[in-house]
Amino acid sequence: MFGRPISLFKIFGFEIKIDISWLVLAALITWSLASGLFPEYYKDLPLAAYWWMGTAGTVGLFLSIIIHELTHSLIARHYGISMKGITLFIFGGVAQMEDDPPHPKAEFMMAIVGPLSSGFISLFSFLLCNLGESSGWPVTVNGVLNYLAWLNIILAVFNLIPAFPLDGGRVLRSALWSWKKDIRWATGIAAQIGSGFGILLIIMGIVYIVSGNFVSGLWWFLIGLFLRSTAQMSYQQLLARNLFNTKKVNDLMVKNPVTVPRSISLEEFIRDYVYKHHFQTYPVLSFGKLTGCISIKQVASIPREEWAQYTVGAVASPCSEETTVGPDEDANKALEIMNRTGNSRLLVVRGDQLEGIIALKDMLALLSLKMELNDLEKNK
Ligand SMILES: [Zn+2]
Repeated sequence: MFGRPISLFKIFGFEIKIDISWLVLAALITWSLASGLFPEYYKDLPLAAYWWMGTAGTVGLFLSIIIHELTHSLIARHYGISMKGITLFIFGGVAQMEDDPPHPKAEFMMAIVGPLSSGFISLFSFLLCNLGESSGWPVTVNGVLNYLAWLNIILAVFNLIPAFPLDGGRVLRSALWSWKKDIRWATGIAAQIGSGFGILLIIMGIVYIVSGNFVSGLWWFLIGLFLRSTAQMSYQQLLARNLFNTKKVNDLMVKNPVTVPRSISLEEFIRDYVYKHHFQTYPVLSFGKLTGCISIKQVASIPREEWAQYTVGAVASPCSEETTVGPDEDANKALEIMNRTGNSRLLVVRGDQLEGIIALKDMLALLSLKMELNDLEKNK
């Protein structure tokens, strides 16, 4: 659904990125502020003034979200949770956490600081706006400050709704977690509430649309859809992390994988291996030792009529950290590499010996089996 985010700048060591969808949204917000909200509250200003106010309002919104997400990231770092960075996309910001918080208190602090920071920005904007009004600042400046004050109150309140993964849902999860000492149970409940709240927004959106209020209706519908899917996804990710934490790569790999000898031609490789097994990459062996990897992409970069002249060994590249994992590593480590690199199959390597292959497909099959068993247990 979303493209590759554009990197904007770094602050406190966190990379701030922006999704293309956000640029579209920014244009829409500027337009609706300049032609709707501001002219309604501040009458008879020149057209250019409304556009300046709209632009300033959008930049203010952007900064408000960055500050909100940044406080999450700073507290996370304080508790030793590594953060990938902050990406702004169509529904606001996401501070990307790579791990679960270590204990309920860390989760609580991390979650609550976001709405608190929005509350502070709101208060600050209100005070500044009051100062502006009493000391005769231009109405355009006061108008933008007033808008930011209300915007941040809405951000704080919306995020406090106890629907996981909204901040309020995280606060709820931390409370449940500290009560029963079971993060899986707590996440399950919080995610169910989050998912239910998502459905509520979807229904509300449909009611709006049917009654003729198309734009706000679509808006609620999309937010609901997004909340529902992230709530379900975060629960599944937690189950996956819990399951793969207890497994080693060794337990999940396929032994004796398909390997390609160095000396055959690319033509033979395509005919006898690629058409038969349909994998993206293959390990290349010479005298029983792993010497490299060959992928379909590498073959495709060579003109077809030259396939007979090249051997696999001449085209293969050395195996890198992006395509290999050790047999004694956690299965989670394999998942993390797959996540980062987009490779769905990793070679399991000890020294120059190929011990097996671990595939995302097999890991997901195990996960879905495990989830079905969980459901059975629940329904007993
Ligand atoms: Zn937040």
